[in-house]
Amino acid sequence: MRSTSLPWVRIDLHTHSSVSDGTDAPGDVVRAAHAAGLDVVGLTDHDTAGGWPEAVAVALDLGIGLVRGVEISTKHGGRSVHLLAYLPDPGHPGLAEALDSILDGRNARVPGICSRLRDLGIDITAEDVHRAAGPTAAAGRPHVADALVAMGACASRSEAFSRWLNPGRPAYVTRHAVPLEEMLGLVADAGGASVLAHPWGRGGAEVIDLAGFAALRDLGLGGIEVDHEDHDPAARARLRGIADELGLVVTGSSDYHGTGKTDHGLGCNLTEPEEYERLLEVAARSARAAGREVPAVIG
Ligand code: AMP
Ligand code: FE
Ligand code: FE
Ligand code: ZN
Repeated sequence: MRSTSLPWVRIDLHTHSSVSDGTDAPGDVVRAAHAAGLDVVGLTDHDTAGGWPEAVAVALDLGIGLVRGVEISTKHGGRSVHLLAYLPDPGHPGLAEALDSILDGRNARVPGICSRLRDLGIDITAEDVHRAAGPTAAAGRPHVADALVAMGACASRSEAFSRWLNPGRPAYVTRHAVPLEEMLGLVADAGGASVLAHPWGRGGAEVIDLAGFAALRDLGLGGIEVDHEDHDPAARARLRGIADELGLVVTGSSDYHGTGKTDHGLGCNLTEPEEYERLLEVAARSARAAGREVPAVIG
């Protein structure tokens, strides 16, 4: 494994490919990460590990570090919470079943969103969405947005979200997610490390407070994604303090989606090498406790 003890090592642990709602194929995410001067990149598609094999092949070819991850859709306190799971075994039966149920819920939701949009006078079908989405495993609102852009109903994904798709907007439909508490257990049992993604982003400021993070840590949470574009400097400072107090790992990442999300360029936020080493140690500890082989980073 590449040494991460050097202070200038550049580590970005949260990206999406076209296997979920990014716009680059998994191998192209890794190529773009390499071109952007990253030493380690995490591929964390929503609810699927389907991009891993292609990303691994390119990472080995280029000699860049690759952390295999999944950003899992969970629910907590009546809200949607994204959990970054690093290095879990996606073949773990409980985890595999949970991810399948979430992907099924994603597909089941698309016709409902289209029906809401038709009620608003927009002539869109689930087929239009799946055509816009291509071969994604994790159909979602970004693909509905892409279909709306393709038919000229709006100019961008973000316009589609603010007009129709965000919570509280007229075409918002919830979908199946697994309770966060349950998912923390599954990820640990599958030998992975759990990090709460952008916990105070998008209107969620302070919904999980110090006591909330402490309770989640006791259920297996290993870290907090502190440096993320959805967090302003004050939120970052407070989250860093909480992580410090609770002994949680601090990560920083781009949440790159290719051209699907502006202001999330590769490397726009980075994870400190020492924090990265701690994160790998969390995964190694879960693997040992579950009687599994310690998972490896590629490269
Ligand atoms: P879904 O997975 O279907 O619930 O959709 C949520 C995804 O939409 C998130 O993972 C984001 O990547 C994306 N998203 C949310 N808001 C926006 C926005 N304003 N512009 C572009 N993408 C967004
Ligand atoms: Fe996304
Ligand atoms: Fe997310
Ligand atoms: Zn993400």
